[in-house]
Parts: sequence; structure tokens; C-alpha cells
Amino acid sequence: MQHFLLSSKARSISLKAVFTMGEDKAYKTFCDMRWPENDGEAVCPRCGCVEVYGIATRRKFKCVACHHQFSVTSGTIFASRKMSFTDLLAAIVIFVNGAKGIAALQLSRDLDCQYKTAFVLTHKLREAMRREMAGRQLDGIVEIDGAYFGGYSKPENRKEDRKDRRLKANLTGKRQCVVIMRERGGKSLPFIVRNEGDAVPFVRDHVGTLTTIMADEGTGWDALHAGWDTRRINHSVAFSDEGACTNQAESYFSRLRRMEVGTHHHIAGPYLNAYAGEASWREDNRRTDNGAQAGMVAMAAMGSRVSRQWKGYWQRAG
Ligand SMILES: [Zn+2]
Repeated sequence: MQHFLLSSKARSISLKAVFTMGEDKAYKTFCDMRWPENDGEAVCPRCGCVEVYGIATRRKFKCVACHHQFSVTSGTIFASRKMSFTDLLAAIVIFVNGAKGIAALQLSRDLDCQYKTAFVLTHKLREAMRREMAGRQLDGIVEIDGAYFGGYSKPENRKEDRKDRRLKANLTGKRQCVVIMRERGGKSLPFIVRNEGDAVPFVRDHVGTLTTIMADEGTGWDALHAGWDTRRINHSVAFSDEGACTNQAESYFSRLRRMEVGTHHHIAGPYLNAYAGEASWREDNRRTDNGAQAGMVAMAAMGSRVSRQWKGYWQRAG
């Protein structure tokens, strides 16, 4: 069964379409995304029972077997939503449409909601994007690269002062390194470390041993040679290992920098991991239609992965 956002009609989805569909259809869309295996009909999130009473006026359900009361968003990241279903759907569309990310302030203006509501919602959507990456394994040819965020102080003009600034940035402890691993023709996976050299354990966890890794000349990557076929490029000389390049990893960082400079102005600190994940998701899905993107984010947010486990439950019980 295909829910609305994955149907061909929604290949591209406009805000106009969202607001034209109205609250009932938006609600139905969320039911379809929450319970795709049951044709959008409610399933008890506590015991998996498909026999439920609908309390239609309040859009609530009560389980026949265990008497648990729930709604379409119970147990999902939208559980304490303050928005209408139409606004929530619109928020998802605005969010996926923002190639450079979307600022909470912008979203709060677009939807006429409180800044705090928009702030929490955008972070929940990032969390949903991040969730799709859990346990990701990369193989084949994997490009790896790192870039530093945060801990900036104002650049000085004199060269010796610049050097000093880098030292100070180091000392603040706020400087973090985003490392991206990107499979050629496949998915990417970012993570946060203090220095590139700290990345090896993460690489070990997520990159197969038969992988060929492409890395630049940074000494932090030297340790990769011990575990993988590793090819190096050297940006400062005219030759490198044959065919080695990290262009895909670099385009990831140019998107993350565009998000920083163009939208958020400051992405370091506790949310760096969330923004790094968002940039990865956007890179990986950059050729996907926005309707399908909205569907992917919404499905992940509605915890469809858990629902698929319940599908097995029904088959066993059925
Ligand atoms: Zn139940």
C-alpha cells in the first residue's frame, strides 16, 4: 500500500496542495504513515491488537484487548504536537524544501507558530533523518574527510596572530571535527570527533574490511592503512594515487558550510551532530522528489520501522 506522500501525485508537493487537502485528509495521511501495513487503520501501540474502538470526535483510539488509549502520534516524536496535522505536514514540506536547511525562526514565521515549537519540531525532523542512518554499513569505495566547526575567534590580520587564534580555538574545547564517510554511488555517514585521528574506531564500526578508502594527506588518516586498502590524494602536489579523490566528501562539506553560512550562522556545539546528519540526509537524497522526501522524513518520524516489526506480530498471531 502506498500512502499519499509516496504516490505519483505527490512526486512534487506544494504547500498549496497541503493546505488545500484540509485537516481530515492530512490526518488520514498521518494514519497511513503510522500504520502502512494495516491500510492506515489503527493498531494498538502497546499490544499490537488491531481491534480498537475509534473515538472519532477526539481522534483517539481505545484498544479492545488492553484498553490502552492512544492517538496516531502516540509514541512517535510528534506525540506532544501542538500543531494541526495540516501545519505539521506543511512544516515537513518546508523543511525538506530547504536545501540549505531551514531556520526555526523562518519556520515559525511561515506557519505562524511559536519559535520554541518550530525549534523543537525542526530538531525532531533532524532526529528522524538521523534515525535512518542507525547501523549503516559502507562498502566498495568510501571517501573520508574531516572539517572543523566551532571554537572560532575573530581572524586577525597578522600571520602570527592567525596562528595564535588557531591555538586559542583549540584551547576553548569548543572546536569539533565532523568526519564524513561517503560510499561512492551510495550513502554517507557523518560523526563527530575531536580530531580526525580519533575517527578510526568509527571507521572500523561502519566500513567493511574489503573497502577501498580514499583520504587526503592529513596525518590523522595514516592509521587507516593498517586496516583498509587506503589511497591518498595530496591537494598540494600535482599527482596523487591514481584515481584517488574525495570530491563526494567535499561536496558534503560544502553543503554543511552553506547550511552554516546561509541559514543557521552557528551550527557548532551540542547540535552539530544533528546538523551533520541533516546535511548527510540531504546529500544522499538530493535527487529524490520533494514529495517522496517529505514521505521519507514523515515515515521515519512516525516510527514506521517499529510498525514493520508489528507486521510480523500480526502474521504470527493471524
Ligand atoms: Zn492493546
